[in-house]
Amino acid sequence: MKSAGFYLQGKHTFPYRVNRRNISQCMIDEKVLTVYETLHARYGDLHWWPAKTPYEVIVGAVLTQNTAWSNVEKAIANFGDRLEPEFVADVGLAELIEIIRPSGFYNQKAVYLKAVTAWFAQYGYSVQTVQSEPLAKLRTELLSVKGVGQETADSILLYAFGFPTFVVDAYTARLCERYPLDAGNGYIALKAFFESNLPPDTAVYNNYHALIVINGKEHCHKKPHCEGCPLRYTERINCKVHLPS
Ligand code: SF4
Repeated sequence: MKSAGFYLQGKHTFPYRVNRRNISQCMIDEKVLTVYETLHARYGDLHWWPAKTPYEVIVGAVLTQNTAWSNVEKAIANFGDRLEPEFVADVGLAELIEIIRPSGFYNQKAVYLKAVTAWFAQYGYSVQTVQSEPLAKLRTELLSVKGVGQETADSILLYAFGFPTFVVDAYTARLCERYPLDAGNGYIALKAFFESNLPPDTAVYNNYHALIVINGKEHCHKKPHCEGCPLRYTERINCKVHLPS
């Protein structure tokens, strides 16, 4: 993804540094901070999510499932100035399918967009009203929405609404396995691992996930391109994998 113009209602403090005093020392795994600080030194503050409004984040989080971000950008562009929840709620399914066709799986995703928009309608399409609700309640609600899995739910809650909930994806799991980070297996275990080793800071969660993704795209592919990866030789530990590019 490219850098964002939209940025969580401007609530956060730059740069996205981890305040170690806010971490429970008995739980800290220094490698979590080493990875963050190393990636941050290379890539800086990435200002995710690349969207103009919170609702565009919601739409992007659904459309990005199983497709490249470049396809999402084409679908988003097709909305023109109609990328509003009221439009998606009212538009016919056939027209919505045509708009989002570049994102692939358009028949399913059109239904998913209607469903997540109906969830947002319960809050009057108000970001502030959503933000006044408990994170756990909202996460449970979103996970009950058709087409919204854990990564999509956490992406929406973190990047659209600014809740401190860590997003896990395939790049995160790969990094943990290769570095290695002793994060366990499965979405919930990985999420809990990062959250227990970082302060509950939305800005840091925002940038940490973005950094993992950008380094995954640059270097940590299925076949890793370790040459030039900032994590190859870090101060405290060397990444476990050192395959030639
Ligand atoms: S050094 Fe290689 S295996 Fe380790 S994170 Fe970088 S690209 Fe991935």
